[in-house]
Amino acid sequence: LAKDRGGNACHSFDPSLQRYREKRRELLRELHCALSNHEFVLHYQPQLNMTSGQIIGAEALIRWQHPQRGLLSPAEFLPVVTGSDLEIPLGRWVVREACRQCSEWYQAGQDLKVSINISAHHLMTPDFPEFLANELAIHPGLPSRNITLEVLESTALDDTRQAGNVIEACRAMGFEVALDDFGTGYSSLAYFRSLPIDLIKIDQSFVRNLLDNSNDRAIVESVVFLAKRFDRPVLAEGVETNAHARLLRDIGCELIQGYGLARPMAAAPFNLWLADWSEAPLQRQRAMLQG
Ligand code: C2E
Ligand code: MG
Ligand code: MG
Ligand code: MG
Repeated sequence: LAKDRGGNACHSFDPSLQRYREKRRELLRELHCALSNHEFVLHYQPQLNMTSGQIIGAEALIRWQHPQRGLLSPAEFLPVVTGSDLEIPLGRWVVREACRQCSEWYQAGQDLKVSINISAHHLMTPDFPEFLANELAIHPGLPSRNITLEVLESTALDDTRQAGNVIEACRAMGFEVALDDFGTGYSSLAYFRSLPIDLIKIDQSFVRNLLDNSNDRAIVESVVFLAKRFDRPVLAEGVETNAHARLLRDIGCELIQGYGLARPMAAAPFNLWLADWSEAPLQRQRAMLQG
């Protein structure tokens, strides 16, 4: 409607919009420098199997260690990166660094799955499977099953068949694929049928109010039920309290990730946290599931 009224033409003279665009361009320039200056870091958030008490892996989450502004979360810079000429180079850096860390853990005797968030554009670059294979080959001995690709549910949407082909090619090499933020898309149920997926991650927006919203609880129960029927593991993200974890276990969702277990951490504190957990996994888990 704005278009009908000539709204688009007006926008280019809007001074606040112009300032906004200038700020974005400036931020993008800074982000390019940040990549060459090694200012990005990955933090790792553990994922727990509540049946075994084992930490099965960790999700790699990008942070920007800004020289003046401190540690910045993806919400503060990823929107500017997305769709820009930095999206693929930054996505590649994330994959490379996550594989390096995964290999370091593997060589130290920690058989952890590292989950990597892959943007839609990056997944759909024609050489993505080949790129992934090359990154793995840098680390001889590291099994491809230790790398999980997290694909946003919304990515799969644009071109489900094309996405399915890329995902299939990656899975054929042994990589695992998780469907991230499940339930937030327009036709979530269709992906159960059409996408070859190893793990479903229930979006935190459904998990957050699980205890007091019976609709959200019904949705989570249904996704868990459906995942079981399709023989696929399901993980709940955004598990903030012990009560959430308990309820999820009772619903039959055995994999969890969230502040209630641990916040995302840099590799060094992650290692300390993991050592502490591994000393007495069932005891740690029992403590978490209590009170
Ligand atoms: P996501 O992949 O769904 O990751 C989960 C987000 O929820 C993370 O936010 C995590 O810190 C946060 N979280 C975990 N547990 C809890 C909890 O109990 N409560 C609450 N309220 N939040 C929790 P983060 O790190 O800010 O990342 C936000 C999003 O940015 C991610 O959502 C992902 O879509 C994107 N992202 C992060 N790192 C990367 C990356 O390396 N590449 C790409 N393409 N996207 C990334
Ligand atoms: Mg994710
Ligand atoms: Mg998610
Ligand atoms: Mg998300």
